[in-house]
Amino acid sequence: MTRKAFVVGHPIAHSRSPLIHNHWIAHYGLAGSYEKLDVAPDDFAAFLSHFHEDGFVGGNVTIPHKEAAFAGVALATERARRLGAVNTLWREGGILWGDNTDITGYLDNLDAQCGPDWAAHAGSALLLGAGGAARAVVAGLIERGLSPIRLVNRTRARAQALAAIFAGYLSDAQTLSVHDFDDLPDLLPQAGLVVNTTSLGMKGQPPLPLDLAHCRDDTIVSDIVYVPLETPLLAMARARGLACVDGLGMLLHQAVPGFERWFGIRPEVTPALRARVEADILAGKG
Ligand code: NAP
Repeated sequence: MTRKAFVVGHPIAHSRSPLIHNHWIAHYGLAGSYEKLDVAPDDFAAFLSHFHEDGFVGGNVTIPHKEAAFAGVALATERARRLGAVNTLWREGGILWGDNTDITGYLDNLDAQCGPDWAAHAGSALLLGAGGAARAVVAGLIERGLSPIRLVNRTRARAQALAAIFAGYLSDAQTLSVHDFDDLPDLLPQAGLVVNTTSLGMKGQPPLPLDLAHCRDDTIVSDIVYVPLETPLLAMARARGLACVDGLGMLLHQAVPGFERWFGIRPEVTPALRARVEADILAGKG
């Protein structure tokens, strides 16, 4: 039986999810497809109720529908509930389920790039940004026990709101605090992990205003921006001899759980898959 899955968003033309999932479908020799669907916000609720009637087993949800998907599913995983957003849909016994795989995507990529002990080794984290993607990263860092976790965002109120949401998930030993960009010179030397979740450094955006000269020699620098593959922050970290984790790995790893649910095989993030998506990014398609 041919299994069909989708990524739904608005707009959707630049999504790289079809490249990833169709690579796996071909690699594992499956009878399946994965396609982009452009659905406007007004039509999204109807889409959620009816996609299975068009033969889809499930799919990914991207901007601007992740919160609407959370509101529209019958059951959500604990991780989706923690984020209030769903990026993966499937049906089980006639029930519409939603998961959010961004937390596991972020963590699995760090595990793959830095080894399983990275969290204990890093200890503390400095996280820049407080948008949608920052939520998943904060949730992941709390899950792995990092402390202190320090948030810096241009709009302080947004970081405060994020910290308030996650305060209830901290263990007794953990702290999560909010700071300003002006505090960075003082915060940086204490951070074992520095994460950029802002859109700064992305193609067409200015670089992140952060000087890594005074960070620890064993600091891990992670940037979730993946266009370009090497952001100015990662280039600076590499020149400084620091461990670097790029954003493409998160994109690839977050795709794994959905594929497994729809097609029944847990796919691997291989160098061949990575090279394929890298080539697409280097070709400048979005
Ligand atoms: P978002 O919700 O729009 O948040 C954007 C963040 O960037 C906010 O913290 C915002 O600060 C900050 N920002 C934007 N322009 C800024 C500027 N000029 N100066 C200082 N801060 C600025 O976006 P998002 O969905 O979180 O995505 C953020 C980035 O992560 C994007 O580049 C996206 O492609 C990437 N991403 C990667 C993955 C992956 O799988 N690797 C997954 C999701 C997202 P304010 O709050 O002050 O506006």
